Amino acid sequence: MMGGYMDDIQFVHKYLGDVTIPENRNADNDAIVIDLLKKKKVEAVQKNDQELAKQIWCYEHILEIQNNYLSAFQKMKDGLYYDAWVLLERVEIDLHNLEPHFRQEYKSDPFLINFIEKHSKQFQSIYPYKLFFSPAYLQLEKVCSICKRVVSIWNPCGHKKGDIYDGEMCVHRITKVELLEVSIVPNPVQKYSVLFTYESESEKHVDQYDYGIVKYAIDGLRKPFDAWEVRWMRTRHPHNLFSHVSNEDDCPCGSGKKYKNCCLPNPRGVLRPHVEFLFSTPLPEGLPPIVYPEYK
Ligand SMILES: [Zn+2]
Ligand SMILES: [Zn+2]
Repeated sequence: MMGGYMDDIQFVHKYLGDVTIPENRNADNDAIVIDLLKKKKVEAVQKNDQELAKQIWCYEHILEIQNNYLSAFQKMKDGLYYDAWVLLERVEIDLHNLEPHFRQEYKSDPFLINFIEKHSKQFQSIYPYKLFFSPAYLQLEKVCSICKRVVSIWNPCGHKKGDIYDGEMCVHRITKVELLEVSIVPNPVQKYSVLFTYESESEKHVDQYDYGIVKYAIDGLRKPFDAWEVRWMRTRHPHNLFSHVSNEDDCPCGSGKKYKNCCLPNPRGVLRPHVEFLFSTPLPEGLPPIVYPEYK
């Protein structure tokens, strides 16, 4: 299998295409592929074959995207929701970096990249995280990852951020920084910094989130590449679900008005978000077809 020059590339192509065959994927096989790509890249750079070096960079990143997606799926199955969230964020960033360099032929999706993009976004959309820490900082010094020179707007090095040189992507590493402030925002640049409750007694961070909807989705899926869709709507939910809310309280619909002055007079109930899943495979036994967000 490690025959000629292009045979190796075809071997990697096939390995990446076989991502849906679980018994193919393991750390040993990955290590063989990673090693092979590394060697091929050295050869490509020596021959100054920039196209091939870039193709190899794409393969390296496709492997990483696939593996992070597979791990995220497994973490959700294991109930490790924040760990899975971090991996999904990694997938999102890598897909963003890959996009300008990797063109798929027409609508074929040989490495399931489109599938992964669509479904990792869907998983993110059903997470309960709504707010994030976001640091604002002043970049005092940046270094180009390709030529290692200090760069600025006035002093560019000639390499373009995000472009591939000798099979490596140019990034600007921030080497000196001044933190200005940390704010809490709904749409941060990166979504790792989820807000967790801090318990002063035990000095521990507590995961206070309700992952009911994520759990529902992951319970409904047998395999990472089972297709599914999610739809958010607003429908009326019967008043008896809100018996713990007094007439004088804020309306559970979130309008900010009092319950008695908002949804209570409507005999059909309270207007609430409602989520529906469409699974491409039959649901496992015991799982109801529709899930309502919990009422709190
Ligand atoms: Zn440079
Ligand atoms: Zn209301």
